[in-house]
Amino acid sequence: MNVYDVIVIGGGFIGVSSAYHLARLGSRVLLLEAYDIASGTSGACSGRTQVNEGHLDDLNLFLIREGYKRHQTLSEELGMPTDWHPLGYLCLVKEGQDHLWTSWSERAVALSKAGIPTEMLDVKSVQEAEPKLNTDGVMGAAFSVEGVLNPFRLCYAYVEAAKRFGAEVRAYTPVTAFEIEGQRVVSVVAGKERFSAGVVAVMCGAWTPTVTRLAGIEVPIQHTAAEAFITEPLPPLINNTIGLADFYETIHGKGKAVSFGVSPHLEGSLLVGEAVTMTSELHRRVTSWGVSLVAAELAHYFPTLGHFSIIRSWGRPTSFTPDEEPIIGWLPGLDNLYTASCMIETITKVPLMGEYIAQDIRQERVSIPFERFSPLRFAAQR
Ligand SMILES: Cc1cc2nc3c(=O)[nH]c(=O)nc-3n(C[C@H](O)[C@H](O)[C@H](O)COP(=O)(O)OP(=O)(O)OC[C@H]3O[C@@H](n4cnc5c(N)ncnc54)[C@H](O)[C@@H]3O)c2cc1C
Repeated sequence: MNVYDVIVIGGGFIGVSSAYHLARLGSRVLLLEAYDIASGTSGACSGRTQVNEGHLDDLNLFLIREGYKRHQTLSEELGMPTDWHPLGYLCLVKEGQDHLWTSWSERAVALSKAGIPTEMLDVKSVQEAEPKLNTDGVMGAAFSVEGVLNPFRLCYAYVEAAKRFGAEVRAYTPVTAFEIEGQRVVSVVAGKERFSAGVVAVMCGAWTPTVTRLAGIEVPIQHTAAEAFITEPLPPLINNTIGLADFYETIHGKGKAVSFGVSPHLEGSLLVGEAVTMTSELHRRVTSWGVSLVAAELAHYFPTLGHFSIIRSWGRPTSFTPDEEPIIGWLPGLDNLYTASCMIETITKVPLMGEYIAQDIRQERVSIPFERFSPLRFAAQR
């Protein structure tokens, strides 16, 4: 009963999309998630299909452009709404940040040339786009049309579609051990149960190192802890997602930092982030300083907002590798242990990447140079 072609561990964007594509291609799949589906970092995110913030190489631009297109028909493909809709993104550059204005102007040219239209707006145009935004100290903004969806709906749409193709999905089933014989993981232990499969795929986001370590394998995944919150439904306030061009400068290398980003969601709530802490601990907590400083940023940029209620706040780890590229492929040392984690612009790319990951696991031809993401690149550096 407990024998599968592939066991996927982790019910976030990467795990659920890979499980769906594996099942669709004919693999017998088991998905194991420690808590609820989307209870990790996927259920903590802003739901943006980001298009303009990533690396500018050809492969990344292709994945953004084509992944973005797939979102336009994804609800139809999966048979459930993801609530995806196009929405503008205004990336604010502040006065005195001439270096960011220059780099975003260059980025806008490269993105537009690659089919991702991006333009630089002066402060007057920013104010016209967002009449209620406090533009004191704002020089202008980079603007692209991206999109936003409900991350829980995206995950559940994938899960339900995977089930229709025969996948078995077990929530509240944390993997606690691997049994290894020779070069193979022969069973996955979750509590009192044991499961076997030809391939075991660890897709646990920031928790990936804790799971691969059960097989004695270290992966160079690091994380920061990020906090965000959602407000009660509010009268219309903003027309676009708004963020700051100095986000990465602000948080980079700091023990604690606060930046600002806000997205409007369908029912009128605002999803607002982020306070970031550098920590080795993997936790889901928020801090009083984080939530209050992010709320103060919201009040600064929207002074007419007045009082608002936060209906939920959360913290989750955000994972990344030393070279800020994803880590996807077979892990060295064992013949059947695979991993996929640390994508950038994960939501935008996941409809494509889930399919490529499934093909790679099934040892079918993948039409992009997937070896670029291989964990072996880190083994080679040691
Ligand atoms: C505040 C915030 C805003 C963000 N906004 C965006 C955005 O707008 N757009 C975007 O693309 N990205 C955004 N991100 C990043 C995005 O959320 C992540 O890239 C993405 O969720 C990672 O997905 P994942 O599947 O790799 O990991 P996760 O969603 O973390 O999934 C891993 C799963 O593995 C499970 N797991 C762990 N250990 C075990 C175990 N032993 N056994 C079984 N299961 C286990 C966990 O419970 C978890 O559910 C944001 C992140 C944050 C924190």
